[in-house]
Amino acid sequence: MLTMKINGNAYDVALENFDAAADALQLDQNTREVIKYPERVLMVSIPVRRDDGRIHHLEGFRVQHSSVRGPAKGGIRYHPRVTLDEVKALATWMTWKCAVVNIPFGGAKGGVTCDPKHMSQGELERLTRRYTSAILPLIGPDQDIPAPDVYTNAQTMAWIMDTYSTTKGYPIPGVVTGKPICLGGSLGRTEATGRGVFYTIQSACEHLHRNVKGSTVAVQGFGNVGSITAQLLHEAGAKVIAVSDSTGCVYNPHGLDIPALIHLKSLTGKVDGFPEAEPIQHEELLGMECDILVPAALENAIHSDNAATVRARMIAEGANGPITPAADRVLESMGVFLIPDILCNAGGVTVSYFEWVQNEQHLFWEAQDIYGRLERVMKTAFRDVLKLHGERNVPMRLAANMLGVGRVAEAVRLRGIYP
Ligand code: NAD
Repeated sequence: MLTMKINGNAYDVALENFDAAADALQLDQNTREVIKYPERVLMVSIPVRRDDGRIHHLEGFRVQHSSVRGPAKGGIRYHPRVTLDEVKALATWMTWKCAVVNIPFGGAKGGVTCDPKHMSQGELERLTRRYTSAILPLIGPDQDIPAPDVYTNAQTMAWIMDTYSTTKGYPIPGVVTGKPICLGGSLGRTEATGRGVFYTIQSACEHLHRNVKGSTVAVQGFGNVGSITAQLLHEAGAKVIAVSDSTGCVYNPHGLDIPALIHLKSLTGKVDGFPEAEPIQHEELLGMECDILVPAALENAIHSDNAATVRARMIAEGANGPITPAADRVLESMGVFLIPDILCNAGGVTVSYFEWVQNEQHLFWEAQDIYGRLERVMKTAFRDVLKLHGERNVPMRLAANMLGVGRVAEAVRLRGIYP
């Protein structure tokens, strides 16, 4: 499997982002001490029975960074590179992300260090059920609500929901979001993150007096977030000229046929081999001359060694933490307009919130209702971040972090510090 260059530890990046926001907000030291670090960290041992009868030990994590503004919320990642620090970073970003879009959740994240591409469905089910039972004391609809992330999906959520419900003795759909619709999932959740990325790109284009229609786009990562973003941009008349996944990169200067590429990926599991395109190197995609670059794979994709090669005019961070702080500084000096992750990809957690509300109320909303609400939330958050960016003359990432951290700090001020 192709791995990205690790340029620093994601948790160090998360702490650096926090410190910059806290400094800019002139946050008092006591509040910093309360909101900076994870509230709870659980590391679990997961013995998984492989199909050949062997037991294979895996490590899993669940981190609750904050429950100051509401139940902790965050996805579960299955990937060979999952570490405790990565999960802590992702949980921390979830806290600020939920605050940026102003939904009543805190931040959490989970992960299992494993290679799901080399596991059968039966092995994945046993892994998921054992991991769920190990983190069971922490999760619950009023405590901590998992969702899909890299290499987990609606089926994974169904197994978690079933394991949790069976243990408690009655169905509890609100324990996870991103479930299949027939188990209480929400319409629009699967495509919510990509749709949110699209809405923020629309807002950014409006702000910069550019058109989505006719824009050229490169997308790194063609999973849930990347493929939906590409699809919506394609439908809006943008030209998606390059796309990659872990198996390869494809390029067509006249624009890729995104529905056909999605179809190929669903059949073969890869973009590699798409007939109407030429293969290119991963680094070529990141350095491609285009209007909009969408990193939608993993952390640290753009780092100090390749930032100067970026030729996109706008970057929309579909992924969490795809740009290191050193690369941020380079891109800022080059005048690249950034839609930062905790704003750009917050559509997923926003529709997760809608799903949770529907589960709590035992009712279902129409798809158009969900899209309308999501668009309002995303565009309001974009305006709020842009306002701070302008008023305080700070980069977009710092503005987003200031908004998120500031809202959590205000909640702490009102709640007080126990005891
Ligand atoms: P996914 O598993 O559906 O897709 C990940 C994609 O990235 C796959 O196509 C994979 O092949 C590709 N990939 C992996 N390594 C790569 C590499 N080195 N180069 C190019 N492509 C590579 O995952 P996803 O849910 O789409 O998540 C992608 C990113 O978006 C992650 O950072 C995740 O945390 C973030 N995110 C996801 C959601 C969500 O709702 N799924 C919400 C917010 C943020």
